[in-house]
Formats: sequence, structure tokens, C-alpha cells
Amino acid sequence: MASKSKTNCYLLKKQPYSETSVLMQVFSDTHGQISILAKGLRKGKEHRDYLLNVLNEYEFVVTSPSPSGIHTLSEMTLIDEYPTDLPLENWFAAQAGAEILTKLILPDDEVPLFYKAMKQYLNYQKSVTYNPVAIFWRYLLHLNKLLGIPVDLENCSCCHSKMERPAGYTTDCGLLVCHKCLAELPVANSLETEASVVIKLLPVIGNYLNDLVITPETAKQVNSFFLHYLSLQFHRKVTLNSLQFFEPK
Ligand SMILES: [Zn+2]
Repeated sequence: MASKSKTNCYLLKKQPYSETSVLMQVFSDTHGQISILAKGLRKGKEHRDYLLNVLNEYEFVVTSPSPSGIHTLSEMTLIDEYPTDLPLENWFAAQAGAEILTKLILPDDEVPLFYKAMKQYLNYQKSVTYNPVAIFWRYLLHLNKLLGIPVDLENCSCCHSKMERPAGYTTDCGLLVCHKCLAELPVANSLETEASVVIKLLPVIGNYLNDLVITPETAKQVNSFFLHYLSLQFHRKVTLNSLQFFEPK
């Protein structure tokens, strides 16, 4: 017989599954990313799928997965609602935070750390009025650390000298380099001043949010740096659709 278990989850994605059911992709604090089928939510007058909003946190009681790996929802309680009246840039930055979790393959014992990181990120990010995307990058920096692939912002990856700010990053490893090394490398990606300032400031970016002007071009450069780095680390191309909102149209 199928057993029931309780789990806290962020709803990452939902789609209609049949006339009456909704299929959800969630990030659970115990299993990481799983699929949950909510049966009967869209039935008749009792149209209750509006209760399920992406980026909300829920406590779900689910039955163990079917052979296809899908859990079934039996009870739900809303824990925390992500506001629906925030500016679009907050929404897309929050979405990017959820999207990156769908790209990770995590052992069960590491899942709670990432769940906590997501919770802290969303809580802080929803109160930010300027440059929420910068808070997303800081969160990404934190995830890299949790994944054991920290980004060194202090020292040049080639000559190991302290960098005032990075001038660019290597194509083959995605690591940051100083001005001198960038000029000597046969192939590398250079960063414009604005993008390199943002990257350098990321650990303390919360103090500079109101002073920074992040243009779409700057956002594109910072996004490209991180996605290039993650793609090399994961040995597959990593893209985040939500980040396109911040880039030149
Ligand atoms: Zn160097």
C-alpha cells in the first residue's frame, strides 16, 4: 500500500494534467525536485487550482511515487505566499532562483541546505526595491559554494595575484583573471568595467543596490559569466530563461 509523507515544498511550475488535475514540479525540503499530481483540483464549481501559485511555499502530504516517479497530493497547507503585486523584475529574479534549482542534481542529504538558501533568497529578494537581479547573482554565488564549486572573486586564477576587480574569465575553465593575464591569454572573455564591478561587489552587493545602475548589457555579461561557469562545471549547457528578462531585447 502507498505510504504517506509530509514535506515542505516550493512550487516551481504547474500545468494542467487532465480535465480535473494539475501536475506540479516542486522543490521539496526532503527529496529535492519531484513531481506531484493534484487530482480533482479543477473539478466543477470547486475550481481550486488558483490556490496553487508558483513560488509559494506549501506543506504537502503526498503518497509515495507511482512507478513513473510521480507523487500524489492528499493534503496541502500554505506556509508562505510569494507576493503577486511586485514589479516584474522581482518576479523574474525570483523565477530565476527557482529555475536554477531545476538544473541541479542533488544527493538527498544536501537538499535541506539548498532549500534553506532558496527560502532566504526569496524572503530577502521580495523586499528589495532596486536591482533584485543582483541579489539573484549573490544567491548563485552562494549556491556555487554549497555545490563545492566556489567562484574566487579575490585572486586571479592564472597568476594568483589579488585582483582589484576581475578583467575577464577564461574560456576553458570559466575562472576570473586579472588585466595582465587577460591580455596574455590566447582566448578569453573580457568583462566591461560595470560588469566586473558588479561581480567583485557581489558578496556585499546588498549595501550597493541603490547606487548601482545595471544596464541590460551589464546584466547580460554577468549572466553569461555565471552560465558559462556552470555549464563547464556541469558538463552540459546551462540556460535560465528567466534571466532573459534583464538582457537587451
Ligand atoms: Zn593574473
